[in-house]
Amino acid sequence: MKKVEDYIRTIPDFPEPGIMFRDVTSILQDAEGFRLAIDEMKKLIENVDCDVIAGAESRGFIFGAPLAYALGKPFVLIRKKGKLPCETIEKTYDLEYGTATIEMHKDAVKPGQKVVIVDDLIATGGTIEAAAQLVEELGGEVVKIIFLMELAGLNGREKLAKYDVESVVTYE
Ligand code: 5GP
Repeated sequence: MKKVEDYIRTIPDFPEPGIMFRDVTSILQDAEGFRLAIDEMKKLIENVDCDVIAGAESRGFIFGAPLAYALGKPFVLIRKKGKLPCETIEKTYDLEYGTATIEMHKDAVKPGQKVVIVDDLIATGGTIEAAAQLVEELGGEVVKIIFLMELAGLNGREKLAKYDVESVVTYE
């Protein structure tokens, strides 16, 4: 039986020399691969008591939305700045070069709601640390954070040490 990692294509030197890019398009374009990825991510959260699934733009949408559908939960968007039409809160975080800003609608999470955050991959953890802070600013409780892939060598988990974090596939 094929495993999720069998569907992940690795592209050397993308987007820059020295980076081994873990490509999700090779999972998505295979119906069995996509189903397996969602099923494996679902196992990580199906017993978690949560009210809302939140996904980080853009690959977090691809995996987060089917999980929300499968678990019968609402799905909320954590977007790059300037895309959301209603009132938002925002958080700026550091990238390797420069910064990025993400936003959520102020009404996306209600105070006291339990939130699972989903993304395709954790590298340094900066994106999801900022996402978790946004959820908390809205009064939500981050009960779990899941990734399809984890680049363990970049120690992203250290930034997320106070959260329950799990990944389907780990690369050393
Ligand atoms: P972090 O904030 O953890 O450093 O970076 C994570 C973000 O960068 C994720 O949203 C992810 O989509 C993107 N990313 C970084 N490296 C890779 C990679 O090798 N493959 C994919 N698919 N995404 C990556």
